[in-house]
Amino acid sequence: MLSPKIVKAINHQINRELFSGYLYLGMSSAATSLGLMGIANWFFVQMQEEMIHARMMFDYVNRQGGRPLLESIEEPPQKYADPKAMFKKTLEHEREVTKLINNIVSLARVENDHATEIFYQFFVTEQIEEEANPLDILRKLELVGDGNGLFLLDKELGMRVFTLPSQAQIQP
Ligand code: MG
Repeated sequence: MLSPKIVKAINHQINRELFSGYLYLGMSSAATSLGLMGIANWFFVQMQEEMIHARMMFDYVNRQGGRPLLESIEEPPQKYADPKAMFKKTLEHEREVTKLINNIVSLARVENDHATEIFYQFFVTEQIEEEANPLDILRKLELVGDGNGLFLLDKELGMRVFTLPSQAQIQP
């Protein structure tokens, strides 16, 4: 069983994961409009991951007898000058998400809620990747500039495919 404080915190995090998906879907659209179909694909896969994060948390609250209550989702920024601006925003956003995840773990500790603390270990680890990936791509964008290198990097990012994390305990 979850305490009301924990349910409230996870419900808010479900909203933040859905917003993240919305943010990346907007970036996918922006990349498409720039003709960068590989980057558009990368952000679409990123959106799919966020939807799974939301679903994992939604299922967790349900399994623990809580009630996921949905908050409204705001319009994401949708104007980006270039791919660098998108990945900068991604890195900045994921750093904020890391803080939110850490706050839930801290709250779980205060509430003596070991199950929630263990459940969120997946997301603590996931956030390392979520920050490392845009940072890595930003460094590559700096290296390649706007010419043929960008074309090749776009091709590389077009290879990304969505895979369900093994930790995603999705209920039928
Ligand atoms: Mg996420």
